[in-house]
Amino acid sequence: MKPIRHVVSVSGGKDSTATLLLALERVPREQIVAIFCDTGNEIPVTHRYLDDLGRHLGVRIHRLKADFSAEIAAKRSFIARDQRTKREYQRVPVLDVYGNPVPSKDSQGRIRYRTVVRKGIEQQEIVPKMQKAQGKKVRWSSKAKRRALAVLHPTGNPFLDLCLWKGRFPSRMAQFCTEELKRNIAVAFQLDLIDRGFPVVSWQGIRRDESPNRRNAKRMERIGPRLWAFRPLVDWTAQQTVDFVRSQDCPLNPLYSQGQSRVGCVCINTNKQGLAQTAYRYPEEIDRIEDWEWLVGQVSKRGFSTFMCDADDRKDRRAIFADLNIRARVEWAKGDNGTMDLFDHLELPTCASSFGLCE
Ligand code: SF4
Repeated sequence: MKPIRHVVSVSGGKDSTATLLLALERVPREQIVAIFCDTGNEIPVTHRYLDDLGRHLGVRIHRLKADFSAEIAAKRSFIARDQRTKREYQRVPVLDVYGNPVPSKDSQGRIRYRTVVRKGIEQQEIVPKMQKAQGKKVRWSSKAKRRALAVLHPTGNPFLDLCLWKGRFPSRMAQFCTEELKRNIAVAFQLDLIDRGFPVVSWQGIRRDESPNRRNAKRMERIGPRLWAFRPLVDWTAQQTVDFVRSQDCPLNPLYSQGQSRVGCVCINTNKQGLAQTAYRYPEEIDRIEDWEWLVGQVSKRGFSTFMCDADDRKDRRAIFADLNIRARVEWAKGDNGTMDLFDHLELPTCASSFGLCE
């Protein structure tokens, strides 16, 4: 059997850097394969950091990129053929055997009432139970088709191409970016190694205290034939990770020193401070996202899409866009908490890290 390949996914963040350092300590260097899934949405500082990290550790970091040209070609023909994509239903009251409306009930079996105003008098009436009737398929309008087909071409940027294919940006509820741009690409790389006869251990920089989803993460897990996951940091804290990386004299992504809690992508889940910091230090990234919002809006049926909080289910997409487009979000981020004002009085680089990186 061929020797094990230890695949370490490096993201530019502290946890994956610590994981790579541990791998270099514990297994022969020639068996380590470091990979980075390039989403196309990273602040360039992260790419430079990865170059520095590879040089510092003497490790080649393989850059992997998703390609959605085939999906975009299929979507072009799908739109051009005017394929119907969604069904909308009318809702009608449910009637009993005598033809009377059936009341709607709550989870405890109590009849629901609502307040209505009739002839100026407020009164309570029973809420009828409703059911779906007569589905109507929603289709692309000719105008929306023309608009979408004019811009729907692969750009070579994985994040943008993914959004063009989906006709929207990812959101917290539909975080398909992680799966499509990172997980699937890393798994395909590992399966390729397995097909070539190498058993694979996938080193993952996951900590249980990162999120409720990860609180039961196992240190070692068999996830497929000749494929294991190893998570050496499961019981570490964020501070322990940072301390470990620094104790090895290894650089950390400079974005931490600039107050970002998440590094790598300009993330759809970034917090207020992270967004304000990005806008202040890297305004060109905000310009880029503004351009992307326009492009992705062109390929969406309704003509609008926003990078952040796209899951808003209000009907009026224009109003949503006005509230949530990236410029509006930046104004919100720098608005009432004074984050930007504070930085206006400081000279760069400023350490705003909660990990004490400038100590
Ligand atoms: S969740 Fe954030 S960091 Fe992860 S791929 Fe999506 S945008 Fe990038």
